[in-house]
Amino acid sequence: MALLELKDVNTYYGAVHALRGVSLKVEEGEIVTLIGSNGAGKTTTLRTISGLERARSGSITLNGQPIESLPPHEIVALGIGHAPEGRRVFARMSVRENLEMGAFLRRGADVEKDFKKVFELFPRLKEREFQAAGTMSGGEQQMLAIGRALMGQPKILLLDEPSMGLAPILVEQIFQIVSEINQRGTAVLLVEQNAMMALGIAKRGYILQIGEVTLGDDAAKLANNPKVKEAYLGV
Ligand code: ATP
Repeated sequence: MALLELKDVNTYYGAVHALRGVSLKVEEGEIVTLIGSNGAGKTTTLRTISGLERARSGSITLNGQPIESLPPHEIVALGIGHAPEGRRVFARMSVRENLEMGAFLRRGADVEKDFKKVFELFPRLKEREFQAAGTMSGGEQQMLAIGRALMGQPKILLLDEPSMGLAPILVEQIFQIVSEINQRGTAVLLVEQNAMMALGIAKRGYILQIGEVTLGDDAAKLANNPKVKEAYLGV
């Protein structure tokens, strides 16, 4: 049984048919990347998994349990963490308060351990623990968005364009951290415009075109596929 599975998912924004029968899987321990052009439906896929948008039809299961009708907070509680596009940190709250929000379902010693883990992954966040999140750099806010999602102890982390707007050196750093999070046991569904780097750390990938999955394969095979190279890798 897959950790996360979407079967024939259809999502609409009014009359806009954004996801057209999307099926994909993430197995325990995998990094899977979702690649597509602007407007292909990558963000919509992640938002539909998190319950922020509703699938009109199709099924979404976590360890076999249907989640497509659950409210977002229950989906978080079951183990799906989401670091949204554009970071969306709480600007006036401190780094620590933002992380606390990520652990809103839990209290006590357990939460302290997670603070420690997040600060280990992102020493910069420890240095800025009491700084207002809105005054941090883009890269730091991205780290905070990922750290906040990790505070919910997710089984799977949904990452929406973590490299967007970051300087190349920070992009490298973020990708390394995503690998490290995965090595510590969290599966990752990674949406990226930077397809080359995403395929570099992913085990498998899917190509999304105008709301449809048109190809799914091992990351290495996708990276060598002439059509993928031409359309997404700038080769
Ligand atoms: P990008 O890489 O540009 O972020 P994406 O692959 O993440 O793109 P989505 O944001 O999922 O794409 O958008 C998929 C389609 O749904 C697009 O055609 C978009 O215009 C449309 N869409 C997204 N959000 C809304 C909304 N709130 N209302 C109406 N249409 C929307």
